[in-house]
Amino acid sequence: MTPRVPLRPAISALPAYVPGARVPVGAAAFKLSSNENPYPPLASVQAAIIDAASDINRYPDMFATELTEALAADLTAGLTQEALAAKGPVTAEQIVVGNGSVAVLAHILEAVVDAGDEVIFPWRSFEAYPIVVSVAGGTSVPVSLLAGGGLDLPAMAAAVTPRTRVILVCTPNNPTGSAVTHAALEELLEQVPSDVLVVVDEAYLEFVRMDDPVDGLAALAGHPNVVVLRTFSKAYGLAGLRVGYAVARPRLAAGIRSASTPFGVSHIAQQAAIASLRAKGELLERVDSIVVERARMAAALREQGWDVPDSQANFLWLALGERTADRAAEASAAGVIVRPFAGEGLRVSVGEPEATDLFVKIAAGWR
Ligand SMILES: *Cc1c(COP(=O)(O)O)cnc(C)c1O
Repeated sequence: MTPRVPLRPAISALPAYVPGARVPVGAAAFKLSSNENPYPPLASVQAAIIDAASDINRYPDMFATELTEALAADLTAGLTQEALAAKGPVTAEQIVVGNGSVAVLAHILEAVVDAGDEVIFPWRSFEAYPIVVSVAGGTSVPVSLLAGGGLDLPAMAAAVTPRTRVILVCTPNNPTGSAVTHAALEELLEQVPSDVLVVVDEAYLEFVRMDDPVDGLAALAGHPNVVVLRTFSKAYGLAGLRVGYAVARPRLAAGIRSASTPFGVSHIAQQAAIASLRAKGELLERVDSIVVERARMAAALREQGWDVPDSQANFLWLALGERTADRAAEASAAGVIVRPFAGEGLRVSVGEPEATDLFVKIAAGWR
């Protein structure tokens, strides 16, 4: 037999990434399966995209200079007095953009993880985590969530060994929606050795409405081993253009940049992100209405008797256990596509009010 090209064992063993189901062409259905922003792009953002299209015969700005400078100014404006006094403004050299924050995370791991190094993360959490860890050659160390869907930070701290290189803290956690407090994050950071990188994945930051919310930039100001991960995909509604970024101390940022795909973020995406920062007020008003809708959906479901964990993100979690796959199929047949995690539960994104009404009606039929 002709020998075949072997795949790396770590790659052959990977679970496939399951994207949120697509709406079949021509079907009337609400897509509540990928935590996308239900609003269409703003006119000002679309204009920036169209404008940028006339330059696509050129490579983009490799280091996204204009975008990283705009981000540095925006992030500096949001710093606490303490963080500003401790470390000064956020600078462009601290920011690394990438083709979605998933790509940035992959580059972070490639920059610090050697074969067999351990990466601790909560589980169930963002399904990309075990994949990017394996691709980087690392060993996944999943730590179970607490019963209500929250992160068990003490257990994550206790899982640290001499081989641990990275801890991923997903807050709010995808898919349960639970968020940790800043005090709890600081407690973790006090326990973790200073040569272990702590990645704070704040993909849903803008949706958080709680006491003592995590302030990733304050954590970064106090701890050089912190990296903050953010995205334009969710609150800013640019999922289809793929822009995310990390904020880190300059030496680590340079290392992540070295591991990054050259020209990884297109000119169109860079310009759309800059236009979105300019329209931040308008976009955050939309986030406010999604937060209102989240409360409405959670209240309606709880009224029906469902146990819905408090969500700080743009989705809700229903722990349906063994019935999960059947329920997802039923919801889809009834016009709402949700994200099942077989045997565990359903994640339902918060979208249009009409979608909430329909899903609440479907859920009522399950009682
Ligand atoms: C959606 C999501 C991201 C963002 O992914 P992008 O690649 O930026 O679109 C990152 N982390 C978590 C936990 C997410 O749910």
